[in-house]
Formats: sequence, structure tokens, C-alpha cells
Amino acid sequence: MPFSKPVVLITEGAFERAFGDAQKYADKSERGGILVGLRRGKHVHIEHVTLPSKWDFSSRFSFTRSTEGHQPFATKQWATTNGTSDWVGEWHSHPEPIPKPSSIDLDSWRRITAFHGKPMVFLIFGFNGLWLGVMTPGNTRPEEYAMTEKGPLGLAFEPA
Ligand SMILES: [Zn+2]
Repeated sequence: MPFSKPVVLITEGAFERAFGDAQKYADKSERGGILVGLRRGKHVHIEHVTLPSKWDFSSRFSFTRSTEGHQPFATKQWATTNGTSDWVGEWHSHPEPIPKPSSIDLDSWRRITAFHGKPMVFLIFGFNGLWLGVMTPGNTRPEEYAMTEKGPLGLAFEPA
């Protein structure tokens, strides 16, 4: 059965944590981490993000995530929520105004999505905008999403 396209929700706190980190290092180095949350009906609800750890390699033009610093958080969330909260995607930053996925991003996202076997959310922050999309198992390209709601509780994204 084909996967349906989820609506992506991000809590204000999780979004601001990643966004704030990306902004703080915008002219210094790329940043990144994982998105952790719940899959509920047609929603993927992101409630937590991780920030770069000492195991990650980060420079002006690249960010290489090591699983060491991020996987334990996802595993702990998974365990403490009886498996309802899990690793649902990744975020990173780009040194460009309006970010677009690179070919390296697409290769990495295909591997991650195939590994998890579920739709995964990918978020890139640029200097003046963000890019969000969902990669579905079996698809070679992500579906680009657009922000459809922004309120005090969080942000909603749906297929553009
Ligand atoms: Zn990238």
C-alpha cells in the first residue's frame, strides 16, 4: 500500500530550538540534528530536536552527523513513551539565503528513509528561509512542503 502524505506539525519550542541554533552559527558553520516526535493518524508531530554533539563534524560548508550524539536521545524517547515517540527526520542548515537540498542530502535522505521504512521529514534552514519536505520509502525525491499555519502552539506544513 502506498504511504499517504502526512501533515507535519512542529511544536514552537522544538522549531525555535533548531532555528535559533542554525541562526546563531549561520555565518560560522553548518549545524544539524534529528527530529523526534509522534506519528499519529495522518500527522507527524515533531516535539523535540537535537543539536550538534561533539561527535559531529561541522564546517562552513558541510555538516556530517554522527549517530553517537543523537541516537541515544531518540532511543530514550522511544523507551520512555512506550514506542510512540521516535526518530522522524533530520534538520540541518545551509550557508545560502534560500536553501535547497544538495545531491548529498538526497543520497543521505534516501538511505535514512529506506532504513526506517516510513515517511521521514527533512528540514533545512537558510539565511532567509527554510526548506521542508517528506521522503517516502521507494521514492527517489522528497515531496516539498509549504508552511500552512504558524501559531503559538507550533507550525504546520503540508504538501506544496
Ligand atoms: Zn544540505
